[in-house]
Amino acid sequence: MPQVLSLGELLVEVMRPAVDQPLDEPGQFVGPYPSGAPAIFIDAVARLGVSCGFLGVVGDDAFGRCILRRLRADGVDVRHIRTVTHRTTGIAFVSYRSDGSRQFLFHLPQSAAALLSPEDVRDDYLHGVKALHVTGSALSISDCAREACHRAVNLAKQHGAIVSFDPNIRPELLGVEAVRELCEPVLQACDVLLPSGGEATMLTGDADEEKACRHLVERGIPIVVLKRGVQGCVVFTDNEQVHVPAFPVTEVDPTGAGDAFAGGFVVAMLRGMSVVEAARFASAIGALAVTRQGPMEGLPILAEVEAFLSSV
Ligand code: ATP
Ligand code: MG
Repeated sequence: MPQVLSLGELLVEVMRPAVDQPLDEPGQFVGPYPSGAPAIFIDAVARLGVSCGFLGVVGDDAFGRCILRRLRADGVDVRHIRTVTHRTTGIAFVSYRSDGSRQFLFHLPQSAAALLSPEDVRDDYLHGVKALHVTGSALSISDCAREACHRAVNLAKQHGAIVSFDPNIRPELLGVEAVRELCEPVLQACDVLLPSGGEATMLTGDADEEKACRHLVERGIPIVVLKRGVQGCVVFTDNEQVHVPAFPVTEVDPTGAGDAFAGGFVVAMLRGMSVVEAARFASAIGALAVTRQGPMEGLPILAEVEAFLSSV
């Protein structure tokens, strides 16, 4: 039985090979690259050598097979990923602008990914699970996917697992109040929260990121890790607030750094590291993840992380 589980959107990313090639003009694309925030997380965990599984839905098509092949090859248990014939696999088209921002076009609510439902979350599969990772993106694909996430959280807690949560929702699409409502049940249950600055302030209504994170700890979340890209991360607990700098690397593609980081953090916790050690370990995974194009392509195996950490 897997020790770590995640669930939610499976999709392929198809991206512009160079910056400033907008999506509303003809031009080149590269891909498909297997993706989806919770899928990147689970692939990071698998490559670090920890047994893990994923719950999600793909279409019976080439993109679905591309995702399944990658997850399986990296060691993820894909037996609970459902393949359906009446919908196609999720797709994200991505273009990078020279100012570092990204333009996305998603084929997701209409895709197979949106069919994830509570029936996909089997109680017996969560027996023995040590950690469950939930993302805001998975909560927002569809009503049934949200219910699946809430059911997984409840079962994971019943089985004594830790719950980690990355509230990576885009408020532009849903509005702040709706986002808070979606996240609240998971915030109440989670042991580790991994927001970026904008997500932390959105959740609490504070203007200041660090203040928001302290409020999230005060409301009962034991560990909050604020992710700040090249500026590293800040770990908040009841009695500490520690900044862990990012490792200097050449960034090729920033997509997925946060999910890779989360995978590293959860693996480090299961290995018994302190929160600050876990943040340093996770920062190495995040740094290595951005050195290759494609969200999963730079994910390291454990030996590569150890070699990287002893070289810096
Ligand atoms: P995403 O862009 O996938 O939404 P995120 O915003 O959730 O990611 P980031 O803060 O971008 O998360 O990245 C998580 C962690 O990965 C950072 O805290 C940092 O440790 C590491 N990281 C990200 N980008 C870089 C980089 N360019 N160089 C070194 N480390 C990085
Ligand atoms: Mg980022």
